[in-house]
Amino acid sequence: MPMENQSMSTPQEPDVVIVGAGSAGIGAARKLLASGLSVMVLEARDRIGGRTVTRSFKGHPVDLGAHWLHAGPINPLVKLGFERGEPLRRAPTKGHFHVRGKPGRNAQRAALDRAFDMADRAMTQAAKARDDQAAAKVLPAGMGPLGKRVAEIHGLVSGRPLDEVSLHDFPSMEYADNLFIAGGLGGYVARLGKDLPIRLSTAVHAIDWSEQGVRIESTEGTLRAKAVIVTTPMAVLQQDAIRFAPALPNEVQQAIHGFTQGVYEHVILHWPDAPFRGPDRLATLVGTRRSPPGLLTRIDNTPFHFFELDQPHAAHFDRRDAYAPARFAREILAEHFGHRALHHVSVMHATAWRNDPWSRASWAVVPPGLAAIRDVLKAPIGERIWFAGEALSRAQWGTAGGAWEEGERAASEIATKLKASG
Ligand SMILES: Cc1cc2nc3c(=O)[nH]c(=O)nc-3n(C[C@H](O)[C@H](O)[C@H](O)COP(=O)(O)OP(=O)(O)OC[C@H]3O[C@@H](n4cnc5c(N)ncnc54)[C@H](O)[C@@H]3O)c2cc1C
Repeated sequence: MPMENQSMSTPQEPDVVIVGAGSAGIGAARKLLASGLSVMVLEARDRIGGRTVTRSFKGHPVDLGAHWLHAGPINPLVKLGFERGEPLRRAPTKGHFHVRGKPGRNAQRAALDRAFDMADRAMTQAAKARDDQAAAKVLPAGMGPLGKRVAEIHGLVSGRPLDEVSLHDFPSMEYADNLFIAGGLGGYVARLGKDLPIRLSTAVHAIDWSEQGVRIESTEGTLRAKAVIVTTPMAVLQQDAIRFAPALPNEVQQAIHGFTQGVYEHVILHWPDAPFRGPDRLATLVGTRRSPPGLLTRIDNTPFHFFELDQPHAAHFDRRDAYAPARFAREILAEHFGHRALHHVSVMHATAWRNDPWSRASWAVVPPGLAAIRDVLKAPIGERIWFAGEALSRAQWGTAGGAWEEGERAASEIATKLKASG
C-alpha cells in the first residue's frame, strides 16, 4: 500500500505531478500550491527528503546526506530558514590543521592557505575564457608541497577528481558563508515537506506525453496531469528508470547522459575523546603517507565526526567488503594520531549513496566541455515536461539549495504557463 505523507486531500487529476520528494520536489510543490494549483508528489522511497535525511545515533541527529547549507547569501533554504526562525548557525571559517597528529605551526598553516588562494585565483581567472577545460589543467605549478592536498580537497567537494570536472563550473562554487542547522539538514527539509500531498513508496516508471497533458505511470497506478516536474537524479534517469513516450528529444537524452556521478560519502565516527576542540570544524591532516580525504569534527558540538570519502576511494571500496571504509578511516587516523588515540572510536555507519537505486550518486557532475547541458535541461519539453533538481543549478550545483532553487524555477514557469492558458 502506498503511504500518504500528509493530511491534505490528494487530487486524482492534479494540475501538476512531481516525481521525487527531495529538495527540488518539495520546493516545487510548495511553490505550486502557493500559486493555487493542485499537486501530487510521487516518491519512490518510503520517506521524503531524497539525498537529505537525518538519522539518530545514540540520541543525536546526524545527517546521512547533505549537511552544509552552502552559499548562504544565495541559498533559498537559508533565506526561508531565517524567515521561519529555524535554528541556523554560521559555520566556522577556521578549521584545524595538524601535521603528523600535532597542531601545525602558523607558517605551515599559512602555506596551506596560500596554496588554496593560488588555486582559487587561477581557476576563477581561467574559467572566464570561453573554451572550457578540465579544472585540474589550470592549477598553478607553484602551489608548493601542499598543492596536491589542495587539488584533492577540491576534488572531494566536486564529487570527482578535478581532471574530470568542468572548469566553467568552478567560480560558481561558493565556499564562504556556509551555515548549519541544529537537528540536521535532513530534519529541516522533512519539516518543509510535512503536510504536502506526497504519495510514498510510489516509483514512477513511465511518462506518456503523446496526447494532451501527461500520463504518469507508477507502481501504484496511473495519474493524469497538465504538466510534470521530474526531479529524479540524473544518474537514475541514465538507467532508463523512467520510459518517456514519445522518447525525449535527442539533445535532451544526450544532456542527461552527459553528467557523471559525483561521489561523496560519510563514514560516521563516534569519537568522544578526539583531539579536536570547538564545534563544526573542518580538520586538515598532513605529514604522513595518507590523509583523510575530508574530516568534519564535533558535529553540532557532539562526539560525532564525518570522515569523508571522495570518488576514487569510494570506487576502490566497491570492490571490497562492507567494512572496508570503516577500516580505512581507522587506519588513516591511526597513522596521524597513533592507535591509542582511537580506543574509543566507533564507526557508526558508512553511507553508500552511489549504490542506492534512487540516487546512484551524491550529485551530478559536468565533465569538461559540457557546461551547456544544464541549460538544455532547463527548457521544458512539449510545454508539459520540466526537469528540476541539483544537476540543473548553475550557481549552486550539487547542493540542496540548488535543487530547491530549480524546483521553484520549474514551478514558477508552470504556474505562469497554466494561468496564461486559463
Ligand atoms: C553524502 C552526501 C553529502 C552531501 N553534502 C551536501 C551538503 O553538505 N550540502 C548540500 O547542499 N548538498 C550536499 N549534498 C548534495 C545534496 O544532497 C543534493 O544535491 C540534493 O539533496 C539533491 O536534491 P534533489 O531534489 O535534486 O534530488 P534528491 O534529493 O535525490 O530527490 C529526488 C527524489 O526522487 C526520488 N526518485 C528517484 N527516482 C524516482 C522514481 N522513478 N519515481 C519516484 N521517485 C523517484 C528519490 O527517492 C528522491 O527522493 C550531499 C549529498 C550526499 C549524498
